[in-house]
Amino acid sequence: MLAVEKVHTLRTARPPADQFRLAALHRYHILDTPACADFSFLTELAAKVCEVPYAFISLVDADRVWIKSCAGMQIGELPRGESYCSLAVLGEAATEIPDLSADPRTAHMTLTVGEPHMRMYSSVALTSSDGHAIGTLCVMDTRPGRLSDDQRAMLVKLARQVMALIELRANERNLEAAVRELELLATTDDLTGLHNRRSLLHRLKFEVARARRFRAPLSALMIDLDHFKKINDEYGHVVGDQVLADVGRLLRENVRVIDMPSRYGGEELCVILPNTPAEGARKLAETLRARIEAQPHAAGARQFRVTASIGVGSFNHMEIDDAESLLKQADDALYRAKRAGRNRVEHGSD
Ligand code: GH3
Ligand code: MG
Ligand code: MG
Repeated sequence: MLAVEKVHTLRTARPPADQFRLAALHRYHILDTPACADFSFLTELAAKVCEVPYAFISLVDADRVWIKSCAGMQIGELPRGESYCSLAVLGEAATEIPDLSADPRTAHMTLTVGEPHMRMYSSVALTSSDGHAIGTLCVMDTRPGRLSDDQRAMLVKLARQVMALIELRANERNLEAAVRELELLATTDDLTGLHNRRSLLHRLKFEVARARRFRAPLSALMIDLDHFKKINDEYGHVVGDQVLADVGRLLRENVRVIDMPSRYGGEELCVILPNTPAEGARKLAETLRARIEAQPHAAGARQFRVTASIGVGSFNHMEIDDAESLLKQADDALYRAKRAGRNRVEHGSD
């Protein structure tokens, strides 16, 4: 059976461990989500079942009470000291005040002394999974009175539905965040922070289709660090890793947002350049080559530099082939750049 009304004093208007209650509330991330029809349905149902004009879902925050959903009257928020619900989160499962104007805790509050001159308040706490009252489902009337036992029992059931909905929304949100994180993990290379090969191939297919559809040019750069084995041999694998990470960052910082730099494998990197003709791609390749060469690296007190060879593959807007042939062009050009002495750019159709 329901807990009955208990007498509070204003001195104890905050639960003793309010910070834990607030932490529970904030875990649901419910305050910053827009109103939704599911909550409105429950407040309307609560007002109807209890045969009163007003029903609210309130969430009691540190200083304010947020009204998540209303029936009968539009309120967005109230200062905590002006809200009957602040009393209702003090610990019991249900709070009933039959005449708000006769109760010293509520007689002075705005909604009692001003419009609409509330008289009756009855609420059921919304209890988090770890046992904290984060807010209430409450009903109000401008006439004094009490709910019937049946109505109170229904209010308890509806409050459970409200809480189930809050839990559902929070779970959906957590799930979406987890999916986003997994997607990021599945498409990112740990060491360089660039897209991984799988993500690159996926995007390349898409970009080739788009280039064909819109008759747009498309280019790709294949970048391979020169004599990288020597870097590892001379400075160690950890330093080699750091060099790769530095070059990865350099790529990220020197391409447009629509470009896609990725780690193709080992010390081979690839950049897809949507909407970029051969000449533009060659210019960017030359800029990247020069910046990679200029980037200093350190192994203890020793400083050194690395260079890269870059192959450019391009489709002009009239001759879009498939993804493999674009990469092959870039790869063949890279091979020629290596043979021609390294630290240089070659183009697929050169
Ligand atoms: P070049 O490309 O100029 O012909 O010479 P290279 O020495 O770079 O050529 P190769 O492709 O034969 O060797 C690549 C080296 O890159 C071998 C491998 O140990 C190193 N490497 C590949 N992936 C990583 C990595 O993740 N970390 C480190 N430290 N080294 C890597
Ligand atoms: Mg190499
Ligand atoms: Mg290589």
